[in-house]
Amino acid sequence: MKRNDLIVLGVLTAVLVVGIAMLLIQRRVPPGIEQQHITPSEAGYHGREEARNDEPHTTVYWVSIDGLRPDYLDRAHTPFFDFLRETGAYSLEHEPVFPSVTFPSHVSQATGVTVRQHGIPANRFYDLETGELHSYPGDSRLLEAEPIWTTAVRQGLRVASLGWVLAHGQTGDHVADFFDPEFPRGLPNEERLGRLLDLWRGDEDPGDPLRLLMGYAVGPDSPGHRHGPESDEVIAAVEEIDAILGRHYEEIVALWNERRSPPDAFYFVLTSDHGMSEVHTLVHPGRLTGLEDSDDAILVSVGPVLNLYLDRALPSDERERVLRQTLTRLEDYDFVRAHPREELPPEWGYAHPTRTGDLVVTLPPGYTFSGKPEGITLSAEEGDGPFGMHGYAPADDPNMTTVAFFHRHPAPLGGTDLGPIDSLQLHPTVARLLGISPAPGTTGEPIEFNDIK
Ligand SMILES: [Zn+2]
Repeated sequence: MKRNDLIVLGVLTAVLVVGIAMLLIQRRVPPGIEQQHITPSEAGYHGREEARNDEPHTTVYWVSIDGLRPDYLDRAHTPFFDFLRETGAYSLEHEPVFPSVTFPSHVSQATGVTVRQHGIPANRFYDLETGELHSYPGDSRLLEAEPIWTTAVRQGLRVASLGWVLAHGQTGDHVADFFDPEFPRGLPNEERLGRLLDLWRGDEDPGDPLRLLMGYAVGPDSPGHRHGPESDEVIAAVEEIDAILGRHYEEIVALWNERRSPPDAFYFVLTSDHGMSEVHTLVHPGRLTGLEDSDDAILVSVGPVLNLYLDRALPSDERERVLRQTLTRLEDYDFVRAHPREELPPEWGYAHPTRTGDLVVTLPPGYTFSGKPEGITLSAEEGDGPFGMHGYAPADDPNMTTVAFFHRHPAPLGGTDLGPIDSLQLHPTVARLLGISPAPGTTGEPIEFNDIK
């Protein structure tokens, strides 16, 4: 053999030996894993990716039941609410914002701020800047503070919000993955909650599951207004919603169990927006203020709160004259409180510059504004109701207090009574459960549970 041939044979042998050795190494690698050359820095990156994939996902399913006063639960047969109390963390002393009215209350829960910042002073209100009257608005552009569904989307989570006040018709850079174009009126509660569950069931992307789902049901609010908070009709409505929620919850948890990874956690959050107080007297807003036929003012009342907006076409000294004249007139009615916008109690957080009235007139528990009286007042009995109302300052009326339940699956929270909480804590609490930062401007302390990281 020539010398060159020997070199070629040597090289071939070497290649063969190395090849066999590599084959043996590769066979030691478990099937399905691609072997890679990993530099130390890549290894670090690789490690972070792995950690992120293993990080537990928290899903929050937040349902609001309208007008649920805590004592209803003691008067009604409520196996599902009992289950939430026994296994969860709950408050039967959840204080809403002022006014304890559906729209501002829901918006404060979602945004973590008061009316002054979020700009929704009532279910119906006027805006002095635009000259528009808004009645049960469904336009989320009216929000002046960031709701939790936007906060979550902005930080990369997928969100569905169906039926929550002012989650409709979303626009902008960070809209929820699912929302309604407008508030769906007249839907039975079973269907309202069922739509959210069906949507979740149909959303099967396992790589990026929905992390925040928000829904709403009417609950005992309507019978509370119609028949009063002490009525049997209220109790029947509470028992009905308890049964619906119980069935709904079983399906939710079964679905979550199917899709979860072992370290994941699921929170079922159930809150309400206000309680309910018995009404004995109806008060006519126009006749009380003497501005019934006046072109100088726009009167918009919701429950016991009247916003009186003075026409901006009037010279300012004339507006001041009407304001003072009305205040003087109202002094004759000792049950009435009236505050110019600039003198509203700061703890109400109610002085929005253009959507709160120039004058805010409030009635105490037992009274509500109504168009029914032919004079200034009429008994609720003679007016055939409403026999129940909310909207009173929570500090003045303990019946405005409502409920909040936090239920964790699979590790329960242990039946903890959280004591007093307030609505401004809900946004930061849900943000914390989701592992995101609350919206800028929120000041509420997140609610502490036993052992959340
Ligand atoms: Zn309500």
